[in-house]
Amino acid sequence: MRASKPREAGAVPTSGWMGEMSRTVFGQCQRLVVKVGSSSLTRSEGGLDEEKVVSVAESIAAATKSGRQVVLVSSGAIAGALAKLDLKARPRDLATQQAAASVGQGALMRLYSEVFESHGLVAGQVLLTAEDVVRRSHYRNAQRTLYRLMELGVVPVVNENDTVATDEIRFGDNDRLAALVAHVVHAEALILLSDVAGLYDGNPRGSDAALIADVYGTDEVSDLSLSGRGPMGSGGIKTKVTAAQIAAGAGIPVLLADTASATEALAGTEIGTMFHPTGKRVPTRLLWLAHAADPVGSLYLDAGAVDAIVSRKKSLLPAGISRVSGEFNRGDPVDLLQQNGDVVARGLVNFDSGELPDLLGRSTEELARELGSAYRREIVHRDDLVVLKPKQ
Ligand code: GLU
Repeated sequence: MRASKPREAGAVPTSGWMGEMSRTVFGQCQRLVVKVGSSSLTRSEGGLDEEKVVSVAESIAAATKSGRQVVLVSSGAIAGALAKLDLKARPRDLATQQAAASVGQGALMRLYSEVFESHGLVAGQVLLTAEDVVRRSHYRNAQRTLYRLMELGVVPVVNENDTVATDEIRFGDNDRLAALVAHVVHAEALILLSDVAGLYDGNPRGSDAALIADVYGTDEVSDLSLSGRGPMGSGGIKTKVTAAQIAAGAGIPVLLADTASATEALAGTEIGTMFHPTGKRVPTRLLWLAHAADPVGSLYLDAGAVDAIVSRKKSLLPAGISRVSGEFNRGDPVDLLQQNGDVVARGLVNFDSGELPDLLGRSTEELARELGSAYRREIVHRDDLVVLKPKQ
């Protein structure tokens, strides 16, 4: 047993720290998201490990039966299909991953449904792509479905829609997906379960690494070297920490814990690593935009436009753009850069890249006069924009 790292006196309130909260929040909150990783649900040689799936589902069923609303984000579709498809390792190419997910997702849901039904509960499958949550109309749709399922007493079982997600539109890891789902459903807490007991200050398989019990700010983990992915899932500790930071940054406390301790985690026991909230809730769409969307182009802004966006909460107009790079369509996410190339914001652009060069540097009045009133619109509307670089 390794000792957990004691909190250093005076080290608690780092910048952005929002106030002391204890693990009881995970035991007492009404609505929460629990994410389980592939390696916690599969055998090392591939294929679903029924015992493990049943054990996690039992813990979730017990929490649901006690009146709590739990959304389960479960990986394991791809890894779960390996044995059935005679694959030795997680496939690397997209087409085989999609095919494997198609086989494994059904098997995974069958198991979950069986366990939940044995407790008088019903499971509902929700498969999401990044696209479903970046676009306003889509995320409202996903939100409505998840709410309705919970109102009906159903346990939503969420996964990425791997069979149709292409490289461009996929999350690729369920850790970030879980953080964003937690935000969409206004969850009070997020529990990330995996085959490690939490975040360590060194290699968790090594003997001298200590568990970090509490994380109060981003700077605290910036020095740790968080190495890669696990053999079965696509995550690894790095994506868990990123996901924890996304959720904590939006006001949701996060617990990283061992899947074998799911029941304890759901009871608020002092285990794992807790990421304390560092920020407040922001509109969901902007959280997606900041953390989930992959920008497909760049707009270079002059100093006046940077100031308007970063300090004065304005929309981006054609007059403030000096250069465009990349090919994109109306509605795509793009980065907004200042002249030295630093990204200051990200937004959903209102024009195709082909249309923009003729508009740059010109006033919307002039454009509307010359080209019609449709050209009066902003290049990126304030509501579709998130500032990534805080005011200096
Ligand atoms: N969605 C993938 C699956 O179910 C897993 C992604 C991940 O490992 O985070 O197989």
